Amino acid sequence: MKLVLGSRNAKKLRELRELLGDLPLKLTDLSPYPTAPDVEETGTTFAENAQIKAATLAPILGEWVLGEDSGLVVPALGGQPGVYSARYAGTHGDDAANNRKLLAELMGKSGEERRAYYVSTAALADPTGQIVTVVEGRCWGVIATAATGTGGFGYDPLFIIPEYHASFGTLSPIVKHALSHRGRSVALLRPRLRAALGV
Ligand code: IMP
Repeated sequence: MKLVLGSRNAKKLRELRELLGDLPLKLTDLSPYPTAPDVEETGTTFAENAQIKAATLAPILGEWVLGEDSGLVVPALGGQPGVYSARYAGTHGDDAANNRKLLAELMGKSGEERRAYYVSTAALADPTGQIVTVVEGRCWGVIATAATGTGGFGYDPLFIIPEYHASFGTLSPIVKHALSHRGRSVALLRPRLRAALGV
């Protein structure tokens, strides 16, 4: 069975392959589909954006599509960067600039004000574009005052798991998957995906 991740983020694809790799699925991103449109994330919530990506791309590709929208929410910043996580500093996918901006916005803040959570919302659409299921996972942490590690992606070098006194940039992929927003959303998705695709 084929499942297309409606994204061009190679690091997201790698994580999803690690999380679903035991299933008899051919999981690809949009790289085999160079003419697939870049779907505009016009929603105001992660769930809306995940559904927009899946429902738009599935009928164009004629395949089952998983739309995953994720990001970082800092309550002390009014929920920013939120659905704008990938383009917080202006350029889509510029992780270094996004991290610099996050550190600048939190300058002088400590304790509770540095608490943050990641959200991962995944929506599965059948080849006609019908949404079959939507799941969400969250993971709480604390934003560090300096980056550590090179693992993961995005805000991971700044995202500290308090119980481990370490960032997702330094923790192993196995630990990240056990704790992360994406690990949790995929755990909820797994039985529904298996039932829908018969794998
Ligand atoms: P999306 O591709 O529109 O879902 O944007 C996701 C953005 O949220 C990424 O570009 C990162 O900035 C951030 N993000 C989502 N998940 C993670 C993660 O697991 N680690 C670090 N950053 C993440």
